Amino acid sequence: MTVITNHMPTAELQALDAAHHMHPFSTQDDLAKQGARVITRADGVWIQDSEGNKIIDGMAGLWCVNVGYGRDRLADVAARQMKELPYYNTFFMTTHVPAIALSQKLAELAPGDLNHVFYAGSGSEANDTNIRMVRTYWAEKGKPSKKVIISRKNAYHGSSVGSASLGGMTGMHAQGGLPIADIHHIDQPNYWAEGGDQSPEEFGLERARQLEQAINDIGEDNVAAFIAEPVQGAGGVIVPPETYWPEIQRICDKYEILLIADEVICGFGRTGNWFGSETVGWRPDIMTIAKGLSSGYAPIGGSIVSDEVAEVIGGCEFNHGYTYSSHPVAAAVALENLNIMQEENIVGHVQNEVGPYLKEKWEALIDHPMVGEANIVGMMGSIALTPHKESRAAFAADAGTVGYMCRERCFANNLVMRHVGDRMIISPPLVMTKGEVDVLMERAVKSLDEGMAAAKDAGLW
Ligand code: PMP
Repeated sequence: MTVITNHMPTAELQALDAAHHMHPFSTQDDLAKQGARVITRADGVWIQDSEGNKIIDGMAGLWCVNVGYGRDRLADVAARQMKELPYYNTFFMTTHVPAIALSQKLAELAPGDLNHVFYAGSGSEANDTNIRMVRTYWAEKGKPSKKVIISRKNAYHGSSVGSASLGGMTGMHAQGGLPIADIHHIDQPNYWAEGGDQSPEEFGLERARQLEQAINDIGEDNVAAFIAEPVQGAGGVIVPPETYWPEIQRICDKYEILLIADEVICGFGRTGNWFGSETVGWRPDIMTIAKGLSSGYAPIGGSIVSDEVAEVIGGCEFNHGYTYSSHPVAAAVALENLNIMQEENIVGHVQNEVGPYLKEKWEALIDHPMVGEANIVGMMGSIALTPHKESRAAFAADAGTVGYMCRERCFANNLVMRHVGDRMIISPPLVMTKGEVDVLMERAVKSLDEGMAAAKDAGLW
């Protein structure tokens, strides 16, 4: 059998890939025809493909490579840990040093009394943990009827059956019989798409108050928790109007429900603070973490929970856990990643240096003829594409048609920028320099210009 290496011709790698590898969130047949781009190596904010192209990564992989690629320290820690203790679990009255050390570090970094960590292998698994944990919490408190979890349409919380049910993506619900029972979705705070004639402030309040309405309709005695990302990421980097976040916290304070902040994207510096909850002023009872926890160098996620939740759960046997909960290699890598973040003051870099620089450049995209809104929080930004800014009009084509055209142009221009419908989004590595921001922006503008020309050629302008 042939040994498959980076040095094989691209076409051969693509053919083998198409023959045996099923890709996530892809139409396999289209991909097989087109051939997948083969990524061979990466360094800093740059990835390289099998054709030798150097591509600037405006998405930090999947919003995760916060400290950038090519960190020897993380590779060394992984190798050391693999030699010393490659695997052990923390079931059955056992523990190990990487789990102890990482938990202590997370308790130090997390706000308020979020001092306890339950590990998973990913964000999806962690949100599955959360579903079972909040329902168990209320059952333990003698309120077993409190089961319903309120979430939002167009939210993304993962791809497992539980977490995809929490998510509000209709395309996902349509496959596999979702959502599971006792999940309720309220509308998202997407002013651009759904704000109508309201002012942003009114709209923000109205959308937040849907949570209060839902609690009243379902009955406080039946509601366990509300889950939300501080800033919706995969939904299109939807930054709500400023009135939204405080109203959500007010409602969570007023009613006896738990607030779960899904920090899988927003956590670990992405928004200019350690956690998105700090940026938006939330005091969650549980935070979902993954991605930036290890900068994607090892698969690890988890739930950081408050003293109170931990105390209640601690009173029962919580019949839940994954083989890879608190995996020692992943935990050691995550800890070293957090050490790097602290030593290099990467959160400060986002807050005071590269974040404000990127914000200025990103917000200036509003002057582009096809851009209707340009939003950014820390290092996660989005633009809405439109043929007519004033009316916030959609293109006369299926949603995503023009977004896809722009995405294709980004691809051709060696920039990774994603499209969600007709929004373009970025979430670059947090270590990006100002010079690299300039490269990213130059390629983004070129791609937008070319995407606009393609939309005109297709009669969509
Ligand atoms: N929550 C959010 C907010 C996410 O963005 C994601 C992944 N994009 C998840 C959960 C799921 O994480 P994972 O892919 O690690 O399962």
